[in-house]
Amino acid sequence: MTGAPGVPAAGAGVPAADAGVPAADAGVPAADAGVPAADRGALGGLALARSAVDRAAERRTDEAWLAVAWADPATRVLVVDDGRALARFSEQRADLVFVPPPDAPDGERFLLGVDTAGVAYFGVAGPLPDPGPAVQSVRPASLREVGQLLGDRDAGLMTHAVALANWHAITTHCSRCGAVTVPVSSGHARRCPVDGSEHFPRLDPAVIMLVTDPDGRCLLARNASWPGRRVSILAGFVEPGESAEQAVAREVLEETGITVGNVRYLGSQPWPMPHSLMLGFSALAPGGQQIQVDDNEIAEANWFSRDDVREKVASGELRLPPPVSIAHRIIESWYGAQLPGSW
Ligand SMILES: [Zn+2]
Repeated sequence: MTGAPGVPAAGAGVPAADAGVPAADAGVPAADAGVPAADRGALGGLALARSAVDRAAERRTDEAWLAVAWADPATRVLVVDDGRALARFSEQRADLVFVPPPDAPDGERFLLGVDTAGVAYFGVAGPLPDPGPAVQSVRPASLREVGQLLGDRDAGLMTHAVALANWHAITTHCSRCGAVTVPVSSGHARRCPVDGSEHFPRLDPAVIMLVTDPDGRCLLARNASWPGRRVSILAGFVEPGESAEQAVAREVLEETGITVGNVRYLGSQPWPMPHSLMLGFSALAPGGQQIQVDDNEIAEANWFSRDDVREKVASGELRLPPPVSIAHRIIESWYGAQLPGSW
């Protein structure tokens, strides 16, 4: 399999930052806020790897507690539909719009967690609430659009809810016998009523890697399907029977003909579009190698110094991935300062 830069190839739901991203540039609320330093890893706080709510897994099968929580007017429900939720936008920030349980539509219901004040949060998959007349600051938004603008609590809740909703939407039948399955554990699993098998939310692990040469230059590539000037680091899905580190080396070789070693883990971020987990790595490429791109997926790939990046972004010759993506943070960790611009 060949992935594109930032885009593991295999069709449905490429875990890549894409065209729909607003030019949310530097200066948006720090994704670091509220993340204990020890949890930030080499990449700092990643936009979609934040949370401020206890997932309360022990409550998922406690039907009595769930009934009380759903009847509590203080309970807050996040409605998600096709990867989007209602958000209220203000300057350089966004907040999710929750509804009380009676206002939630019918649909799969997930317990998302309980906050420190004891407020329960649920997700429901269904039509979004009416944003109300003439309220232009409230509108539906995807994680790509809003992930970086949300606070820790809302970023975690929306990522959790979208991931579950996406899974239920495509996992309606038993993979063993074909019967229609039913949600259990507050939407965190499904059970087959015929053979009793349990099915858990699926994740597709994908690797995304910073490749540098002996001169400290970074390998950036452009996917053949991307509009001109967009570049990112390489990425691809982990294959069955393969370690993440092996996937890094294989993808780089397949896409650019470059052999790498010294593969090191940097950090991870969920990317539920529709169900990926992005695993960030660095790798070193010995010098003297010729880049040979896989013309199917990769239109071009080149080594860039930090000065190259600064100059080419400033001139509009290069465009880098948006801050919500792990690609952005990985490139930033190499660049050593806030990136000069992005999609
Ligand atoms: Zn079955």
